[in-house]
Amino acid sequence: MTDEKIYDILILGGGPAGLTAGLYAARARLKCVLLERMMMGGQIATTEMVENYPGFPDGIAGAEIGPLFEAQAKRFGLEVRQFQEGSRVERRDGLLFVTCANGDELAARSLVIATGSSWNPLGIPGEERLRGAGVSYCATCDGAFFRDQDLAVIGGGNSAIEEAVFLTRFATKVYVIHRRDQLRAEKVVQEKAFANPKIEFVWSHVPVEVVGGDGVEGLKVKSVKDGSERLLEVAGVFIYVGMKANSELVADLVETDERGYIVAGEDTLTSCLGIFAAGDVRTKPLRQVATAVADGATAAAAAEKYLETL
Ligand code: NAP
Repeated sequence: MTDEKIYDILILGGGPAGLTAGLYAARARLKCVLLERMMMGGQIATTEMVENYPGFPDGIAGAEIGPLFEAQAKRFGLEVRQFQEGSRVERRDGLLFVTCANGDELAARSLVIATGSSWNPLGIPGEERLRGAGVSYCATCDGAFFRDQDLAVIGGGNSAIEEAVFLTRFATKVYVIHRRDQLRAEKVVQEKAFANPKIEFVWSHVPVEVVGGDGVEGLKVKSVKDGSERLLEVAGVFIYVGMKANSELVADLVETDERGYIVAGEDTLTSCLGIFAAGDVRTKPLRQVATAVADGATAAAAAEKYLETL
């Protein structure tokens, strides 16, 4: 392979971490390409409003963040290949080779993996069968289909509670089913939900079955205290029970923890020389846009330093 065809840095993932790595790499005049399989912005593109990313006092729509980051990185010459998914990563002859879903093979001296995380399924009967027919993992995408209907949201974290509040714009009533009697979400997020008359909390209950024929007709929930069951008549079930790392592509090359997150500190260095992990895919205490962009900048700088040693 000729030198001109080899990228200095290949970035997997077009969320805040990957796009920031791209911005820094492009400004360092490194030969860099970024692959994104879906929407620029990644997971944040499915969030209605982001209120805790500094610089936007009135908040910014989640869908706007990716394109803004992309435009900024492209201004400095970042090559972006959207709707291209890496399907295999191999280490050969001191280089990293990424095979794309369309069959293209790209070679790079270093890799920044910024593939983020995906929603966990609950794994209860009816969930998979009714996915897309009332079962959803994205309120921003599907909420408007449920105007004047009752809905259920599962979970007690930031995602569940923020999305429950968002869904009250359309729904008549939103049940929040949480397995404990205290929320995990930030206090400011909790306050909004507690003040919303359309939200009814179903504390200390777990969902056991999504019920319905062609579409969702109800959600069976069970008390963790006395085992009693009840059926909530809802037309939609939105599931927010945490995330899992999208690290499968490099799982053979780098160390991961028991939940699949790539073991890497703030320096983004992984157990494999030349592979850097940035954003939600790495082990870290706080998964936010603000921490993802920090990782992206660090990963690009770390890759640049690594390239100097070759
Ligand atoms: P999360 O914080 O991990 O919360 C998951 C929720 O689901 C928890 O309340 C958990 O209950 C519950 N849960 C987990 N497994 C369950 C099961 N099998 N059955 C029933 N309930 C189950 O996930 P997240 O809310 O998606 O947030 C992910 C990350 O993104 C977090 O770091 C979060 O802070 C961040 N985030 C931030 C914002 C923001 O800053 N505005 C917005 C969205 C997400 P327990 O509480 O009992 O464990």
